[in-house]
Amino acid sequence: MTDQLLPGITAVTNVARNYSFYSWAIENLLKKNKVIKRNQFASHLTKRESAFVIASIFHDENNADKAKPHGYDKAKRFINKSNDGKLQVAFNVSDSNSEGFYGLYYKTAMYRLGLTIRSRLFDDLTPLGRQLATSFEANIRHTKYFKDHVQDDDVEKSVLSEYGDCACICQLVKPSEERNILRKIFFRENLKSRILEKSRRETLVMVLYLIKQCSSMAINFTDDIFRDAIFFGQVTDGKSIFNVDLKGLDKIAARWHLFQLHEFFTYGLESLLHALLSELKKRDDGMMLADFLKEIGDPSKAVGRILMASSVDTIQTTVLSILKNLHSDELNTISSDHFDRDCNLEKDVSEKTAFEALKEANKKIDSQNIIANSVAILILNYLRAYRLLDTIDPVTLWFNNRAFSELSPVLFAQEIKKKAPVWSIDKFVRFCFKTITDRHDLIAYEKLFYGNDTFRFEEKGNRLKFKMDIYPNYPSQRSSRIDSVLSIIEQLGLVEKQEGIRKITLDGEKILGEFLNERSDRPY
Ligand SMILES: [Zn+2]
Repeated sequence: MTDQLLPGITAVTNVARNYSFYSWAIENLLKKNKVIKRNQFASHLTKRESAFVIASIFHDENNADKAKPHGYDKAKRFINKSNDGKLQVAFNVSDSNSEGFYGLYYKTAMYRLGLTIRSRLFDDLTPLGRQLATSFEANIRHTKYFKDHVQDDDVEKSVLSEYGDCACICQLVKPSEERNILRKIFFRENLKSRILEKSRRETLVMVLYLIKQCSSMAINFTDDIFRDAIFFGQVTDGKSIFNVDLKGLDKIAARWHLFQLHEFFTYGLESLLHALLSELKKRDDGMMLADFLKEIGDPSKAVGRILMASSVDTIQTTVLSILKNLHSDELNTISSDHFDRDCNLEKDVSEKTAFEALKEANKKIDSQNIIANSVAILILNYLRAYRLLDTIDPVTLWFNNRAFSELSPVLFAQEIKKKAPVWSIDKFVRFCFKTITDRHDLIAYEKLFYGNDTFRFEEKGNRLKFKMDIYPNYPSQRSSRIDSVLSIIEQLGLVEKQEGIRKITLDGEKILGEFLNERSDRPY
């Protein structure tokens, strides 16, 4: 989902200048070297990358709050073993990809931004990529490194130091053609082949707009604040609650709202898995799911307390007693829609309160509270997702197609809808656990995708057994990529931190103003 909302920006591509540096490196190596094998492309690229990383490290040597370039640790080791003032640069700052952090993080991102063309022997640049490469070169062309040492395997420290004065990742913030072009690239429409043409542009503008609003309330904008804003339409400093305005951005906000709906859903299920795994871990001979559930007992009362529901006889009565506060006595598309807009940070019952309690319970491995709060979140999820069952607007269709085909809030809601009149909370919990044990590979899909072993238990007959020795992480939310967005727009000089609070700069105001004026008749 985030891949479509922010094409070209991932959870790990948080250094804006790497986009222009790699463009330049590719252009430069194709000009100066003959590439007839892929590994030649790799070695020419990584040599330039090492020089760039070392130069950045030299530049920020005495800077306390420096941003570390990708490959910092390895480059630092090479710096430490240098002798007679010469530094080796013919190495790879990444240990896990032959094409350095280009291959590891930026290759696909740059392709999605329309900067590169891929082929078998080497990646080449599009006209836009070339433009970016030229603008990077303009900023470094006066250096000794650029003039005489780009091809060298060993480079004088003083040469790299001088190179760092203009090539360092922190220098992008200064006005230059390179900065202009990068701003244009991030804020332009997606490639025509991408499904949502304006998603990145609108998401970035929305972030700027939210930063502007939050700073005026003395709230530092973060990923957590972003999630509250797009899900609840509100933000809080812990004392007061403020409404946010998403004028002209409601379509993109609606997509992010569904992203967060999915987040709560998977976080709830992951937490149940966490409770189960923690128990399995204690038993070498495993246990039956039924015994585990028996140990936990009936969570109905606890769930009722969290949801402030007067009746928890069945899922249906629970849902209806939640809806009663909305003066509606039936769950249908309209009341679900109503609930989805109404259940915000001001309410005594919302995902926010249950989520905070759940995070705590996960940390303490407090199974009873994990289960009660997870179930509360999943019931709220059902209430919100219900409206999507019969809706065919483009945003809903997009969500239904994006969410994993087998495990999504919508399909989950479909299952529950059938059983709500007869299922007790206890029965519902059993269903959730059955879903998890059947599908725990899917729940952990994203982690599996990044190469971690996620098969954390095995099922033999009726017995479940803990399988992995290391299970280090509590359930975590998937990345929204907003942290990368924040560091990119900061490095581009559109946002800056003042006294611990992110504020929008004059240039940021300009981009925001242009967009909002495009969207409405009157100036914002
Ligand atoms: Zn620097």
